[in-house]
Amino acid sequence: MASISLKAVQKAYGDQAPVIREVDLEIGEHEFCVFLGPSGCGKSTLLRMIAWLEDLSEGEVWIGGQLVNHVPAAQRGVAMVFQSYALFPHMTVYQNMAFGLKLAKTPKAEIERKVRQAAQVLQLEALLERYPKALSGGQRQRVAIGRAIVREPGVFLFDEPLSNLDATLRGQTRIEIARLHQQFKKASVVYVTHDQIEAMTLADKIVLLHAGKDTERYGSIAQIGAPLDLYHRPKSRFVAGFIGSPRMNFLPARVVAIAATHVSVRLDVGNELIEVAVDGSDLQLEQVVTLGIRPEHLAPCKLISLEIQAAQTITRNVSLIEALGELSYLHLDQPGGVTLVAKAAGDIEVKLGASMVFSLPSSSCHLFTVDGFAVAQLAPRPSTLPFAQESAACV
Ligand code: ADP
Ligand code: MG
Repeated sequence: MASISLKAVQKAYGDQAPVIREVDLEIGEHEFCVFLGPSGCGKSTLLRMIAWLEDLSEGEVWIGGQLVNHVPAAQRGVAMVFQSYALFPHMTVYQNMAFGLKLAKTPKAEIERKVRQAAQVLQLEALLERYPKALSGGQRQRVAIGRAIVREPGVFLFDEPLSNLDATLRGQTRIEIARLHQQFKKASVVYVTHDQIEAMTLADKIVLLHAGKDTERYGSIAQIGAPLDLYHRPKSRFVAGFIGSPRMNFLPARVVAIAATHVSVRLDVGNELIEVAVDGSDLQLEQVVTLGIRPEHLAPCKLISLEIQAAQTITRNVSLIEALGELSYLHLDQPGGVTLVAKAAGDIEVKLGASMVFSLPSSSCHLFTVDGFAVAQLAPRPSTLPFAQESAACV
């Protein structure tokens, strides 16, 4: 059993404002849970409280059905892997991996068996006699993970384990960690990162923490859910803006009609009328709102005549084209407003400065109130539709 339960956990350093506020969280056995959020939002603090490296100011931590507030790290059945690897430089790979077991007075033959087994899983067999200085960053991180594996913990705690690696190694090691998790059987994983790609690809469950600037919500959980849940059904503008890259476009607007199946808003910039499939029962006419739409849902309409402004479309000038080959990002000028980003097919023919029409499918639009909360959606969120399919809607 290695489920984790945090109950009303709070942390303040000295008499400063709390860094972690009222965190309630359940992490199931074998679950891969990612703490995600911008730098300084309290991810490491929360992880360290699970590991006993940090005292709680208030609340309870339960591991495997046992209250562990006063149980030392060694008896919690957790193993932590740090960003900095924290290997002993004067010990070989083998000695580094065996160290914890030796301390625990594990019989020599068993140490040998466990270290060799972990080395095999992590492809470190040929490196066991090397010292850390003769290893690449990726190999060092594998040794650090190996050191955790040999202890066969119920819970693996990772604090930004990939952030010192270059992009290629980061990708490879990420896949290795995902594979390892499948082999861990009952062990659960808590993994801290500020990188949403890591979070989206590794997590069963993401815990997104609020950013530090928002003083009222600082240190609390913005949303908990499966990766695609946060992506398609963000509860707030903060979540919508944090998950997804390039980030969601936000357009200031005003409510002009409320119907059973949708709310119509008029955009401040461009003055276009857009229907959004949300439940408007708590909204009022003339209410100030923000319409959110992701770059991949802002679909270029190729065949439309510029003179006829079709429903559910906006017209903007292309100010920058980022051609990535497979796809292109079009940056769109907005007079007096922030630049919008639309995702288009890589072979789209666009001229810089050209005026283009984009459709905004009503079920792909989000609506946020001025205090940042998402208005409840009516239509189930579609999965990301291919560009051609969306643009066909306005031909
Ligand atoms: P993250 O891991 O999300 O980047 P941390 O958990 O490391 O964030 O830190 C959260 C906040 O707590 C930060 O504002 C940081 O400055 C503060 N903090 C962390 N450790 C201490 C400490 N020992 N004393 C005082 N403040 C701290
Ligand atoms: Mg940290």
